[in-house]
Amino acid sequence: MHRIVFLGPPGAGKGTQAAILASALGIPHLSTGDLLRAAVAGRTPLGLAAEEHMRAGRLVPDSIVLEILGQRLGRADAAAGFLLDGFPRNLAQAEALDRRTPLDVVVSFEIPTVLLLTRLTQRRTCPKCHTAYNLTTRPPKVPNRCDLDGTELMHRPDDRAEAVRTRLEVYRVETEPLLRFYRGRGLVRSVDATGSPEAVEARVRSAVG
Ligand code: AMP
Repeated sequence: MHRIVFLGPPGAGKGTQAAILASALGIPHLSTGDLLRAAVAGRTPLGLAAEEHMRAGRLVPDSIVLEILGQRLGRADAAAGFLLDGFPRNLAQAEALDRRTPLDVVVSFEIPTVLLLTRLTQRRTCPKCHTAYNLTTRPPKVPNRCDLDGTELMHRPDDRAEAVRTRLEVYRVETEPLLRFYRGRGLVRSVDATGSPEAVEARVRSAVG
């Protein structure tokens, strides 16, 4: 069974790698960021409650995230394994996850902070299929359109410099300590997340085994 968590700062490439690995393993890619953005776009009560926190780059309250993720994890396709991307992000979430399911591996994406700021401000995302582009290193074939479905790309409001700084700080203070929590359980495999997506993909595959 593959019950996988991707842990790493925003901009480390978790979403890109999660989409590739989840499809290779035939397990669902569960991104709480994507689930929350869909709730915001759908103007659901949970989405409306999450919106301001996200825009500012802060964590959304645990009760909202746990509700949204709990619904998704309860669906049949997650019974045979899952890849969590962007969850857990603090100790309370890790403990809640722990009460719900065991894990097989936690992949830690290691990358110097200086690289993250440019990666995030250069990132453009397809709102439909969630594919990420980089204006410099991986531009779309047609300017500002997704290669896969032609949808107009967006610059996420929280990928602008001010929110990015908050997100990096939140990561350092709230999320990074989870490495210790998972190391204590012998679950962590570290991956060098610098370089091309293809290079990182090979390292992730060997880490997951
Ligand atoms: P991401 O797409 O993973 O970068 O998430 C985008 C934003 O959604 C974050 O900056 C948070 O505001 C919110 N978010 C995503 N996942 C979580 C989580 N597990 N806990 C709290 N907030 C989250």
